[in-house]
Amino acid sequence: MCSILLMRAWWIQRLVESLAFIARLIARREGLILAVLVGTLVLLPRTGFSQAPPLDGKSGRELLLRNFRPVPTLKVPEHLLKRAKFPVVDLHTHFFHRLKHSPDQLEHFVELMNRHNIAVCVSLDGRLGERFDEHRKYLWTKHRDRFLIFVNVDWMGPGDPEKPETWDCHRPDFARRVAAQLAKAKMAGASGLKLFKQFGLGYRNPDGSLLRIDDRRWDPIWKACGSLGLPIIIHTADPIAFFQPIDATNERWEELSRHPEWSFPADKFPSREELLAARNRVIARHPKTTFIGAHMANASEDLATVAAWLDAYPNLVVEPASRIGELGRQPYSARKFFLKYADRIVFGTDGPWPEERLTYYWRFLETWDENFPYSEKPFPPQGLWRIYGLGLPDNVLRKIYHENAARLIPGLKQRVERFSERNQ
Ligand SMILES: [Zn+2]
Repeated sequence: MCSILLMRAWWIQRLVESLAFIARLIARREGLILAVLVGTLVLLPRTGFSQAPPLDGKSGRELLLRNFRPVPTLKVPEHLLKRAKFPVVDLHTHFFHRLKHSPDQLEHFVELMNRHNIAVCVSLDGRLGERFDEHRKYLWTKHRDRFLIFVNVDWMGPGDPEKPETWDCHRPDFARRVAAQLAKAKMAGASGLKLFKQFGLGYRNPDGSLLRIDDRRWDPIWKACGSLGLPIIIHTADPIAFFQPIDATNERWEELSRHPEWSFPADKFPSREELLAARNRVIARHPKTTFIGAHMANASEDLATVAAWLDAYPNLVVEPASRIGELGRQPYSARKFFLKYADRIVFGTDGPWPEERLTYYWRFLETWDENFPYSEKPFPPQGLWRIYGLGLPDNVLRKIYHENAARLIPGLKQRVERFSERNQ
């Protein structure tokens, strides 16, 4: 009890001394400084600047990155193109994966094709076997002239996806059987072969190692495509950012944070360079087979490298599906590339997409527009940036939109001509 009384007295004495000290300061020049300090402390909480931020992360200074939706204030000319200037062949579409064989959606998309001057779409979803038959029926019953089909090899066959030792591709006569299937598919109207990205990233050998695209076992397949006149559209590896750690420096962080399964960490997968080198060895070994490097041969971040590949492999062409986001952020390099390699680029979108997405392809290739989106999604799906148009001349547009594709695929030129006559 006694000690509490003593403590209280001690505090009172300290308080009195402090007040006396402040009074002395005010009396002297330091008083001014002190007055400002005290005033700031008293007034600051009343100003908006220091108000506690709302904790929802959706506004104010504590906004979360995932809620950031900047609206540019830039005023520049806009050309919101409603259709392509010349008839288009879209060489990279997925009518099974995206439309799930819905007849209504197909009819809607054909109307959209008419409006946008898309003469022909090439669906890459014709997996050999039953799916190819269904896909032909779906696309060709009413629109034989408007759709072409690339087939896919069924590497697993009836095997168990979890047990690579049961997969068809590990049987000795696999490649020879696929070559025979391809010849049959060609007779049934197939126009090419599509290879998905699972080589080096998904498919496995019985010992658990990843299947290589340059495995000699598949050579008879690539060779057969050459002699049958079936171009191979090939997707190898993925954007550079998908092979980098998902950290604060990764330019596709927001996308990878939503889709961590798109990341290929170095401890589990071959490097991107190894995968692309393996693909290039296949292209080099089969000079009589045409290869279409999907997504700018998957190196749109580095067009000098794509140019070097085009120089090295005369049997390689590239297409820009789902890469206008990359190309459009480097408009000077991309324009030079498109002018120089105008004969080696075909057109692709990775669609069917919503109408708005298609308009960005036309705007990107045809106009000089600046700083516009590359996707209809409110949050750009492939990097937080906007793009710039290439303003390509008419002769280059014609080559990219349909002339180059018509050189690769028999029967395509006539389809484009028939469409142009009807769609005048
Ligand atoms: Zn695709």
